Amino acid sequence: MDVGMKKLTVLKSKFLWIAGLVALGLLISVSLFAKKTKTPVLRFGMITDVHYAARDHFKERYYNQSLRKLSEFINVMNKEKVDFIVELGDFKDQDAVPNEANTLGYLTDVEAVFHQFKGPTYHVLGNHDMDGITKTQFLERVENTGIAKDKNYYSFNQKGFHFIVLDGNYTADEKDYNKDNYTGVLSYIPAREVEWLKEDLKSNQLPAIVFIHQLLDDSKGMKRSAQNAPEVRKIMEDSGKVLCVFQGHVNSEKYSMINNIHYYSFISTVFGSGLKHNSYVIVDVFKKGTMKINGYREASSLKLLSH
Ligand SMILES: [Zn+2]
Repeated sequence: MDVGMKKLTVLKSKFLWIAGLVALGLLISVSLFAKKTKTPVLRFGMITDVHYAARDHFKERYYNQSLRKLSEFINVMNKEKVDFIVELGDFKDQDAVPNEANTLGYLTDVEAVFHQFKGPTYHVLGNHDMDGITKTQFLERVENTGIAKDKNYYSFNQKGFHFIVLDGNYTADEKDYNKDNYTGVLSYIPAREVEWLKEDLKSNQLPAIVFIHQLLDDSKGMKRSAQNAPEVRKIMEDSGKVLCVFQGHVNSEKYSMINNIHYYSFISTVFGSGLKHNSYVIVDVFKKGTMKINGYREASSLKLLSH
């Protein structure tokens, strides 16, 4: 199986994008830094927007190929012996004409593959995870290692770093997304979760890395980001502890730096036919907070500097 890491310079547009960031001193391509490789403190695997359903493709979404793509990810993660894996939401999808029993079956099937990883597994809730079922139904069927089944947002520590999983799947009147109020577009972090985040950051002294499905950095294009993203960003900024926010949902590699916090989103697994269109990363985290993102298949490799 040919699972090579993709270099940054393949696409001109991508190269220019990266070059601009390098000029800003925010990000450095892996090839430029190859000589300075040190041993990471920890490594974790990440995949997003798996959208598994046993249905035929719709446009570029190849739902029924996602188990195969996810299997490849799991095989590589087991081989690389990463410390844990996380999926950034929209883990499952549903039939063109939704059927609850089928939807739950797709979730069971995709979780069974995810669980073949020999280590801790974590899920971030995505909007599609509640398109035809409830948030509770989803949470009951997945395992977030060491986390109670009823927690939709939570945190954990690994090797001197703090990891925070947020849930942006709420309506603006602070109701959980469920099958009955699913819109797939709006995202909001309710006051109780904002307060929890504030306390969680306060009570922990470790540098933190945040995972969320929707964007927290795209406040101008509010459709793709949490409606109260600026409020959440302020809390993270005030803590002085957050290094980076990893995001899914948008099927594109987007990077921004806002007030010393990196924001990075990457490509969906479900898009494109065949394993060559798979996309996943291993993140190497170094002692002082620099992160090296090792991209596989369509995902880019890059380095996020600590500051
Ligand atoms: Zn989504």
